[in-house]
Amino acid sequence: MSEREVVVPDLGDFKDVAVVDVLVAPGAVIERETALITLETEKATLDVPSDAAGKVAAVLVRKGDRVSKGTPIVRITTTDEVRSPPPAAVSAPSVPAFAPPSGAAPKVPPGAAPAPVRKPSPADTSKRLVVIGAGPAGYTAAFRAADLGLRVTLVERWPALGGVCLNVGCIPSKALLHAARVIEEAESMANCGVLFGKPRIDTERLRLWKNRVVGKLTGGLTLLAKQRKIEVVRGSARFLDASSLEVRDGDRRTVVRFGQAIIAVGSEPVRLPGFPDDPRIMDSTAALELENLPKRLLVIGGGIIGLEMACVYDALGVEVSVVELTPGLIPGCDRDLVRPLERRITKRYRQILLGTRVTRVEARKQGLRVSFEGPAAIEPETYDKLLVAVGRVPNGRNIGADAAGVAVDERGFIKVDRQQRSNVAHIFAIGDVVGGPMLAHKGAHEGKVAAEAAAGHKRAFDARVIPSVAYTDPEIAWAGTTETEAQAQGIDYGKGVYPWVASARSLTLNRDDGFTKLLFDKGSRRLIGGGIVGPNAGDLIAEVAHAIEMGSDAADIGLTIHPHPTLSETVGMAAEAFEGTLTDLYLPKR
Ligand SMILES: Cc1cc2nc3c(=O)[nH]c(=O)nc-3n(C[C@H](O)[C@H](O)[C@H](O)COP(=O)(O)OP(=O)(O)OC[C@H]3O[C@@H](n4cnc5c(N)ncnc54)[C@H](O)[C@@H]3O)c2cc1C
Repeated sequence: MSEREVVVPDLGDFKDVAVVDVLVAPGAVIERETALITLETEKATLDVPSDAAGKVAAVLVRKGDRVSKGTPIVRITTTDEVRSPPPAAVSAPSVPAFAPPSGAAPKVPPGAAPAPVRKPSPADTSKRLVVIGAGPAGYTAAFRAADLGLRVTLVERWPALGGVCLNVGCIPSKALLHAARVIEEAESMANCGVLFGKPRIDTERLRLWKNRVVGKLTGGLTLLAKQRKIEVVRGSARFLDASSLEVRDGDRRTVVRFGQAIIAVGSEPVRLPGFPDDPRIMDSTAALELENLPKRLLVIGGGIIGLEMACVYDALGVEVSVVELTPGLIPGCDRDLVRPLERRITKRYRQILLGTRVTRVEARKQGLRVSFEGPAAIEPETYDKLLVAVGRVPNGRNIGADAAGVAVDERGFIKVDRQQRSNVAHIFAIGDVVGGPMLAHKGAHEGKVAAEAAAGHKRAFDARVIPSVAYTDPEIAWAGTTETEAQAQGIDYGKGVYPWVASARSLTLNRDDGFTKLLFDKGSRRLIGGGIVGPNAGDLIAEVAHAIEMGSDAADIGLTIHPHPTLSETVGMAAEAFEGTLTDLYLPKR
């Protein structure tokens, strides 16, 4: 046994780095690779591991100190017989291979690079996980894994955590949709005797407010990662093999070795080929910036994202047109649920062209001239801006997955099993990159499944339903089997519908255009699906999803006392309509 000092290793370009946490105290017995302190640079927070095993005799730094290469951190009485080599630069941590808790060797498919054969030290066997991508799927996985005791490195190429959802998706769009709702509600109060003037829109302040909302949430994630001592590495990751990846951030290259990995690299907007390269052609990210509001906007794509942005621009006074290739708006949703939205926007928007293809876009000085094709096609028209919202493509083909032996299909999706494992058992994939509905809550749920499986828990994706919401006006939400699916699959179902024209709460909100529809299996009378259209449908659908997960039948829902007067009552009343016990409407006996 001998006494020695462990010092700060080579920090690459960084000097004078802040110590944000001291992780050991005198008397602690530590292993090689035990994290001693956490440092924070403007690029990352990182743990400095010990290069030897032993007992801490003295801690030589304090929280708030600044350290550089060679600064002593702790003095330890070593138990290592042979002194270990000093650790590599922090930017290239050496990490033992992962052995699954069962002790079974990770399955590597033919052709995949085998995992490294370095024997893990007992303390690290289950404690090294790298998560690529800090969207809702990735950060949820990283946080859950850290809570379960794994040592986690989170790699993210963007400056802020939160992925598409927080930075350029769910959150900024919902902030702008709130503004749209206030504008439209204020306008609609005129027929109730409350008159406001025409709103004056300060797009700069609206954008700043939206960005502040985003900033609060992404800042919160940074704090949550720090509290969990997650090492955040900035840069773009590519696999080198099945146990390491490189992270590039400008000229800086970091090699991260891992025992297990979770791929959570998300998706990006589809670009339509043949369109001119013109800043007046926006994707959803550009549209959220509200720069130079156009007079006339054409939204290409009548799905959820396109229609939400159409709703925002319409409320801000832009003349909106929508073109959709398929015969109906929001493909995949029951037609009766879409109809109230369609009725409302048909009155407000300039054109809604269904079953229509855009065949050509010419960039001209006075605008973008668009040609159409299809039964409802109109003559070419000129618009000031276009928003292309025709779907998203997964980022699975941009991460060198084949170097790790991970199979990616031709569209960029990674196939996974119910534990979110790819064909390489110690590499998981979650979120948009694995397909299914591209929704934040689906990705976050998968993130927890993957983290728990990685920590050795018996966990699999067994959710029955993933709710979908269009935050348009009116909102549309559905969960479980749709009526269209029930009919196509020949399911013997019964239906309970409650129109909101009979909902006291809806009328007090000055709205009567919504309804709640529940579908029940006729034999078991259990709920199999539901759809809601109207204000706050997105919040209300949670009860439907919960009831399906719990295997609730119509009586369970109808006999649950719902508060009055609320929109939630309409869920109970739709169940009563199916049961034949509804008193708030007169339904002739079946
Ligand atoms: C305008 C808009 C509105 C939306 N609204 C909703 C909504 O209301 N509700 C909802 O549920 N969903 C909504 N979505 C979809 C939702 O944003 C996505 O489903 C969700 O963000 C997917 O999460 P993810 O973690 O899989 O991927 P992402 O959120 O895409 O995150 C992936 C992360 O990985 C990073 N990354 C990618 N490649 C690398 C690499 N090689 N190295 C390092 N980092 C990398 C990216 O920078 C990104 O931060 C919306 C999307 C858009 C565009």
